[in-house]
Amino acid sequence: MPLNLNHFLKEFEIIVGTNNCISDQSKIKDYLEDWRGQIRGSTPLILFPKALDEVQKIVSLCFLNDIKIVSQGGNTSLCGANLPQSSKHQIEIVLNTSKLNKFLSFDPYNQSIIVESGCILQNIQEIADDNDLFFPLSLSAEGSCQIGGNASTNAGGVNVLKYGMTRDQVMGIEVVLPDGSIFSDLKSLKKDNTGYDLKQLFIGAEGTLGVITKVSLKLASKPKNTVTCMVAVKSVEDAINLLQNTKIAFRDNVSAFEFMSDTCIQAIEKYLNHMKLPLGSNHSWQIIFEIINQEEQDIINFLGNHIESGQIIDGLIANSEKEKNEIWLVRHSISEAEKLSGNGIHHDISIPIKRIPEFLKMAKPAMKKIVGSSIVYTFGHLGDGNLHFTKTQPETMSESDFLDKTHEINRSVHDTAETLGGSFSAEHGIGSKLMDDLVHFSDPVKIQLMQTIKKSVDPKNIMNPNKLIKI
Ligand SMILES: Cc1cc2nc3c(=O)[nH]c(=O)nc-3n(C[C@H](O)[C@H](O)[C@H](O)COP(=O)(O)OP(=O)(O)OC[C@H]3O[C@@H](n4cnc5c(N)ncnc54)[C@H](O)[C@@H]3O)c2cc1C
Repeated sequence: MPLNLNHFLKEFEIIVGTNNCISDQSKIKDYLEDWRGQIRGSTPLILFPKALDEVQKIVSLCFLNDIKIVSQGGNTSLCGANLPQSSKHQIEIVLNTSKLNKFLSFDPYNQSIIVESGCILQNIQEIADDNDLFFPLSLSAEGSCQIGGNASTNAGGVNVLKYGMTRDQVMGIEVVLPDGSIFSDLKSLKKDNTGYDLKQLFIGAEGTLGVITKVSLKLASKPKNTVTCMVAVKSVEDAINLLQNTKIAFRDNVSAFEFMSDTCIQAIEKYLNHMKLPLGSNHSWQIIFEIINQEEQDIINFLGNHIESGQIIDGLIANSEKEKNEIWLVRHSISEAEKLSGNGIHHDISIPIKRIPEFLKMAKPAMKKIVGSSIVYTFGHLGDGNLHFTKTQPETMSESDFLDKTHEINRSVHDTAETLGGSFSAEHGIGSKLMDDLVHFSDPVKIQLMQTIKKSVDPKNIMNPNKLIKI
């Protein structure tokens, strides 16, 4: 541990208790690797506060002594946003919110709940369900990511098509600001037109403006029924036409529309070979879509018509909760299979839906030109125009030669996305990975405004420095 932090260790221990203070490097390392094992962080200290006053005391001590803080939730960031980068020149400690995990209140009239930021997303979904309501935020990491992390990354997931991003679910927020003061806006109101909507500033800020300690969340009505379908189509054009027809037929009742290439399914088959693949692994594209509050017969008729016209070449409807879970497990296992398959250069991009085929026709050959031929994984939230798009390491190329091309591949894919009116970052955020792209692709006025906000809220740059925006 650097000499100068040693001096404060006792004070941190008094605030959170010795057991909630880890400085042993052999235990710290579990918190310092990103989910894909591609980015490593470093820190001399991890703290686990249990209540607001502890967070406030930690932040105040850090503010006075110029110690940097990286907030950490479930550690599932896919862009390195959660990893500290301590060095000889700068100490970054981790404030982990796992023990700030109390469920605080539920208001059935308002359809809202207030929880601490360390609550695991899946637990919040279960609380909503127990109260005959629905919390729509859902993503593959829901068993470990926390609501504070979801808010800080403005997470998306599989239900954005109907319910919107995390930003749309948050009614109120409590944040410890960089100087230790508390911004409390936990009112759970639908209408509160009282000037700037400041809570939105902290949503998607990736921990650069403060530590979120509580959130008030909007709950939706539980759908009367949900029909889950898995179908296969021949081309991405057919997938897009099917999405359009689904929206025309069932309007706002389409709650999810996900797609995945044959390469994704084949990776599951190869690396997670215990898993059931309801439609096998040979179809070029498979789709999972969900329709709520609709007679099942209408959906059977819809599928029948599309099978007859050849737009759907295979398909099934889940007949039980078990079958529904089996279908979703396929989608939720892609990232794991992708990880097991080895090195990849990953992208999380948005494209206007109609232009996705054009994107694939441009981006795949461009990547091939840079590193040669290899498997490409394409999957994601087709209903939102959000693609997860990964180029894997060619067999003939060494790991270092491949990874040396990361910037070139990224820039090529991101250029193509932006040229088609899309975005280089759809839902995973910027973190440490995409800071240069943010400056490269953004309006300079936006960058200037972001820097002005950061400097004004966090003048000493103690909150997650080296992430999101350079000042
Ligand atoms: C398998 C897999 C699938 C995924 N699928 C999706 C998906 O479909 N959609 C999607 O949007 N994302 C997805 N992600 C990315 C990730 O799960 C989300 O970004 C998630 O919201 C991060 O939550 P977390 O608690 O793990 O946060 P962390 O990874 O711990 O932190 C993420 C960022 O939030 C900040 N932060 C965390 N807690 C706080 C707090 N209390 N106050 C202030 N800042 C805080 C951190 O400093 C960091 O900048 C996926 C990740 C994995 C591993």
